[in-house]
Amino acid sequence: MAGSFVSFAEVKRAVTMEAVLTRYNLFAALAPKGKNLVGGCPFCKGKSARQFQVNTAKNAWYCFGCKAGGNVLDFVAKSEDVSVRAAALKLDSWFGLGLKGEAARAEEPVTSAETELEEKMAPPVEEKTLPAENPPLTFTLKTLDPKHEELGVLGLAAETIEHFGAGYCSKGLLKGRLAIPIHDSEGELLAYAGLAIEDDATPRYLFPPKFHPELEVFNLHRFADFAREDGPLYLASEILGVLQLADAGQVTVLGLFDGSLSEKQEEAVAGVLSHFEELVLVGEGFSDRAVARLVRHAAVSWGPEFPCAGKPQ
Ligand SMILES: [Zn+2]
Repeated sequence: MAGSFVSFAEVKRAVTMEAVLTRYNLFAALAPKGKNLVGGCPFCKGKSARQFQVNTAKNAWYCFGCKAGGNVLDFVAKSEDVSVRAAALKLDSWFGLGLKGEAARAEEPVTSAETELEEKMAPPVEEKTLPAENPPLTFTLKTLDPKHEELGVLGLAAETIEHFGAGYCSKGLLKGRLAIPIHDSEGELLAYAGLAIEDDATPRYLFPPKFHPELEVFNLHRFADFAREDGPLYLASEILGVLQLADAGQVTVLGLFDGSLSEKQEEAVAGVLSHFEELVLVGEGFSDRAVARLVRHAAVSWGPEFPCAGKPQ
């Protein structure tokens, strides 16, 4: 193949994603959704029937399952397990583009396909395929120890840890961590978060692989208990902040998981804010976007700093 030059740009202009999908007998299986075509992914054959998306206007594709995507060249390269350049030559011959053997020209670097993908098909955050809700957990951890000596570094009273149904976990996935139950707004147990106790342990929080924290607001199921309290509503950027506030005697507390705020979390927080005059944010790590969203619903101020275990002081 040395010596034959193909213009990637020309191939991309000449061949549509529809044409490529048709050649692979995949076109008919996709359904229109707005300007896109959606369906199952031909590569990862993932569980979601809508994870593979084709933007026909931009002649690009993306799979939310295997996180692969690109243009027609990337699609053929992945399908045939060949280089982008070999894919261009294949498209050239399949669609009779007559590009092969044309006058030598500077070949575009292969990375251009990737860069273009990032610009065109960066997965829109809001469209991330999320289930509507987390399913209830089918078991409970019965041997959690709220008084375990390892938990001392967290500086929490054992009663506080007990109040949240949390405790030191000595076996399984969360071994050596503080396991903290997470409930939905109705009080149904959904998952246990495993907070690292040692400073340098990563990740700081462990969640079950199929649990989506962005669908929940921590401690929301206790809202009925504290809805009539005077004073502000506190919102901690992470679960530990909720426990620390409770330890300090604050009961009107909700928590996020990593300082980010999804639309669903915003809705939940906004829904309870009408009972309070002020929202006090506690902890580092609130994303700018989360703060920008929260100020739409309440007067926001920043609360006391707690020395967070596991974080550089
Ligand atoms: Zn896929």
